[in-house]
Amino acid sequence: MVAAGPSALNTPLRAGAADARATGAVCVVLHDVCPAHWAACRRVLAAVEACARGAGVRLPVTLLVVPHLHGDPALPREYLQWLRQLAAQGHELVLHGLTHRDDGPPPRRVGAWLLRRHYTAGEGEFAALLPSQALQRMQAGRHWARAHRLPMRGFVPPAWLMGPGTLGAACEAGFRHTCTLNRIIALPQGRSLHAPSFVFSTRSAWRRVLSVVWNRLLAWRLGVLPLQRLELHPHDADHTAVRRCWESLLRQALRYRTPLRLGEAAELARRHGQDPVGAAGQTGWRARGAVR
Ligand SMILES: [Zn+2]
Repeated sequence: MVAAGPSALNTPLRAGAADARATGAVCVVLHDVCPAHWAACRRVLAAVEACARGAGVRLPVTLLVVPHLHGDPALPREYLQWLRQLAAQGHELVLHGLTHRDDGPPPRRVGAWLLRRHYTAGEGEFAALLPSQALQRMQAGRHWARAHRLPMRGFVPPAWLMGPGTLGAACEAGFRHTCTLNRIIALPQGRSLHAPSFVFSTRSAWRRVLSVVWNRLLAWRLGVLPLQRLELHPHDADHTAVRRCWESLLRQALRYRTPLRLGEAAELARRHGQDPVGAAGQTGWRARGAVR
């Protein structure tokens, strides 16, 4: 999708971060990258690239990769080559769970039930895992990535849902960054930056309408914040109103913001973010999780 050569997007991390401090930054993140969504992911990336070309900027994207979506063992060689090529061009690959399926014990409380079964449609793989189970899955994911020569320094749980031991397990597994819906977190220290997200839901017509209205309203609030995230999903380019909305948000951001990979934004958090205690209310961070 992106015509950029290896050097074009591999800007020195510190230079990109310095620019971001001066002008504000935007991270473009594509979720649920896997063979089943490969074609849809390419449509999204083509639309992102068209926005970047129109703005005259190079735009590195962070791709959240799921090794076996819902247990799917398919792994075409061409797909893996595509991922390696994107990484070589300067895009970032991040582990996004192992199966993306919430098969933890059933939620007992109404709030948890709504979140895990309705809002995220049973996709919060790490929502109810014990710390040891979370670590086991992350290590399996790291092993998978290494076996296929896919560089992955970050971990983002599906639906951003973390159980009580998820952050500690991510540290123990050696990941360098993660995020929630509203924060980017540098690991293992746990320093974090406020970085709210534009997110769309395309599951039904009413969700698409609400998404567009919500994100347009959100744009008023996020427009003044230093760090924005545009969090896209594979079918976000397949619905005209949704696509037009995020394309216009992205074009607006690219007029003055520096595009950053999540890993680069995490470096900003490492140097300038809130400490884990200050961010505890929003990240669910537990000091124990930071200790290695
Ligand atoms: Zn996901």
